[in-house]
Amino acid sequence: MNTNQLMNLSDQNIASTYSRFPIVIVRGDGCIVWDSDNREYLDFVGGLAVCNLGHCHPNIVKAIKEQVERLIHVSNLYYTEPQTKLAGLLTKKSFADRVFFCNSGAEANEAAIKLARKYGREDKGNERFEIITMTNSFHGRTMATITATGQEKFHKGFEPLLPGFIYVPYNDVEAVKNTIGKTTCAIMVEPIQGEGGVNCPSDSYLKELREICDKHGLLLIFDEVQVGIGRTGTLFAYESYGVQPDIITLAKALAGGLPIGAMLAREEVAGSFTPGSHASTFGGNPVVTAAALATINTILNDGVLRNCIEIGGYFFHELDKLRGKYPFIKELRGKGLIVGIELEFDGGDIVKRCLERGVLINCTMGKILRFLPPLTVTKAEVDTMVSVLDDSFSEI
Ligand code: PLP
Repeated sequence: MNTNQLMNLSDQNIASTYSRFPIVIVRGDGCIVWDSDNREYLDFVGGLAVCNLGHCHPNIVKAIKEQVERLIHVSNLYYTEPQTKLAGLLTKKSFADRVFFCNSGAEANEAAIKLARKYGREDKGNERFEIITMTNSFHGRTMATITATGQEKFHKGFEPLLPGFIYVPYNDVEAVKNTIGKTTCAIMVEPIQGEGGVNCPSDSYLKELREICDKHGLLLIFDEVQVGIGRTGTLFAYESYGVQPDIITLAKALAGGLPIGAMLAREEVAGSFTPGSHASTFGGNPVVTAAALATINTILNDGVLRNCIEIGGYFFHELDKLRGKYPFIKELRGKGLIVGIELEFDGGDIVKRCLERGVLINCTMGKILRFLPPLTVTKAEVDTMVSVLDDSFSEI
């Protein structure tokens, strides 16, 4: 099958939920992917914050190979070693005491929403079920998580939505205070809004949310699906901001490219889940958890977090120079290696120009170019990215 035949067949048979770029990616290594014509691309999309160790990292490949030859799957009715070890590592390295494993970010958030409701109903015997989330947030595509998502465009056509969610503007503490009622059980927030345009918290925002939750007995849920697993320069994003939530959700980069989700909670909160409360057939499968163990150990032991901070800082600095050169750059924002450039116009054209020059980048919310390279990216690769962006901007 040649490239055009493959793209045509895909367009005919796969649900048309994605608008795709006209390339077929066949191979990856580090920050580079190759298409079916053997053309090379520098990948600053990174599977949208999945490939934090780049493509086909040898430690992940080895862990997956060893595990698939031993045991691919058993039911969660039985114990397995990789799942147990991963839960042990996640709880050792975080504030949390318990982990629920699932298969995606949306599922991790579903688990968090269910746990918050159950805890809210059981705690102090109150009927508390309402969750405050933020406008421009993104929490997934299931019915509960599109409802949690504070963006109308994801709701359209799927109404009626679930009851029990209220939206307030991100970075607005007063709006949260004014919205809390007798039925509120939790506040759910991305430490940095990813899909919503790389919106970063003000210095005090997350700390103030913690104080509000403590004052009113609410759970603080951090959706770290996009910014967890080293993206901001610490293993978990909450560490970068010095604020401890009650629940975090993880997915994307956790298993280095295999599908996984996880919800982590404090013991007292997690106690509201008992046998039968929640479940997942594939959640915490031996292969994905073996891959996740290799991913986290590599991130922690191979200088990846240091690289993320150093190269992230360098990238930001170089992009800042472009800001001086091109007045249509409205703002540059980010932390570690999640970086956004807000343009005055739609960024789709720039994405296309970069692709033509052999560099993959993403655009979100229309005008925000988003960069999510592997955390192992080098200075030379950043230089290539910045020079391609410079060339593309210069044509506008
Ligand atoms: N939460 C956040 C912050 C995300 O960025 C995403 C996906 O982009 C999700 C949840 C949903 O994750 P998934 O696509 O794995 O269901």
